Amino acid sequence: MLDQPQVTNGLTGQALGRSFDILIIGGGSAGLTVAAMLRGKVKGSIAIVDPTDTNAYQPGWTMVGAGVFNLAQTIKPEAALIPKGVEWIKKPAASFDPDHNRVALADGTQLGYRFLIVCPGLQLDWGKIEGLTETIGKNGVCSNYRGDLAAYTWECIKSFKSGKMIFTQPPMPIKCPGAPQKIAYLAADHLRLTGKRAAAEIAFCTALPTLFGVVPFVPPLKAAMKRHGIEENYKTNLKAIDGKAKKAIFTVTAADDTTSEVVRDFDMIHVTPPQSAPDFLKGSPIANAAGFVDVDQHSMQHLKYKNVFSLGDAASTPNSKTLAALRLQAPVVVRNLVAAMKSEVGTASYDGYGSCPLTTDYGRIVLAEFIYGGKVTPSFPLDPRVPRYSSWWLKKDFLPFLYWQVMLRGIDLDIGHRERVFADAA
Ligand SMILES: Cc1cc2nc3c(=O)[nH]c(=O)nc-3n(C[C@H](O)[C@H](O)[C@H](O)COP(=O)(O)OP(=O)(O)OC[C@H]3O[C@@H](n4cnc5c(N)ncnc54)[C@H](O)[C@@H]3O)c2cc1C
Repeated sequence: MLDQPQVTNGLTGQALGRSFDILIIGGGSAGLTVAAMLRGKVKGSIAIVDPTDTNAYQPGWTMVGAGVFNLAQTIKPEAALIPKGVEWIKKPAASFDPDHNRVALADGTQLGYRFLIVCPGLQLDWGKIEGLTETIGKNGVCSNYRGDLAAYTWECIKSFKSGKMIFTQPPMPIKCPGAPQKIAYLAADHLRLTGKRAAAEIAFCTALPTLFGVVPFVPPLKAAMKRHGIEENYKTNLKAIDGKAKKAIFTVTAADDTTSEVVRDFDMIHVTPPQSAPDFLKGSPIANAAGFVDVDQHSMQHLKYKNVFSLGDAASTPNSKTLAALRLQAPVVVRNLVAAMKSEVGTASYDGYGSCPLTTDYGRIVLAEFIYGGKVTPSFPLDPRVPRYSSWWLKKDFLPFLYWQVMLRGIDLDIGHRERVFADAA
């Protein structure tokens, strides 16, 4: 360990606290995974900075919102997940000083490092939708983007009798861009299974011009929308919400780029909040213009500060922000960081892999897997565009196991994925 005496940084005047060989900012899915992998590969000191009490398997929140999982199944105490031998500093980080290899915590403590891994995830900007913070979690306004609110989603769906349901999607970036539509399908399917479908009008309102960013998956998803009788509204961005009056105001952009305001009544609305890089990262020396950690999209190494790496939702890589992505980013970070520790150039390369299990029905999933460039790269030989029970099993039973028992134990399990081209793709 590089424990150093208290020294003073001439620039900030703040005393330098302790130093670590590897300092990890953010002990969420990415931070815990990469720490567990590093533990077996490096001898030096490793610390995770994160103020949280718990870690969540967030992909499970879609299933919580649909009544398949309960919330407790998706959450564990952070203390139980910090890998052995890794120190946990239970405080928020506040700023970066990469020219002096330092990170300042919110309480003013300065930590030094030889290598830094930055993975504080995405910030949920609830406040960007007028009226949302006042009404979220009541008045039929729910969201799977926070665990407790996902439990409320299920309350809303379960108790829905008749009327209007709306599901919204904000502009990118968001984590798991498929999640806003997954819960729309499941809500429609639940109403069908309970004989209430005819009493509901369901609308999906997305700020985006398309249903999904990887083109071959658009037709099967449009078919699911049609099958469930869900009205599709594109370039329709939630701007404000009045929970008590049960009204949602959208900005709609027309083909000629003119905009108008449309007010929709609802009995239940599932809101996906706008998202961005965490405020303490935005504008820092390690961030790009959009506020994300400015790394090479293949090596996950910072473009300017070669002892800085990033992965997960806070990285600037142009992949879909998913757990599946960081599962394959983590071993790349580890290999390239270990090489950098030996003053070698790492050759591990991330190909942009991401995955989105789209729950088109209870018991059926379109398993979208893809890499940079929108190329479809399934892990299995079946046509991934077809909704299947096997993929539902994967999401419900296997992937949570993969997270808690494999990823968070630092085991690099990659069954491989291969590009497939579909002649009949749109
Ligand atoms: C509803 C929903 C459905 C999803 N479905 C899927 C899916 O089906 N498949 C899939 O692959 N992915 C899915 N995802 C996305 C996936 O969960 C995320 O991509 C993944 O969790 C990102 O991991 P991360 O470590 O980057 O961020 P997080 O896991 O969010 O962790 C960030 C950590 O940083 C910490 N932090 C924040 N600020 C600071 C600070 N100032 N100082 C120190 N620490 C800080 C936080 O406390 C947190 O522990 C879904 C997400 C949601 C919300």
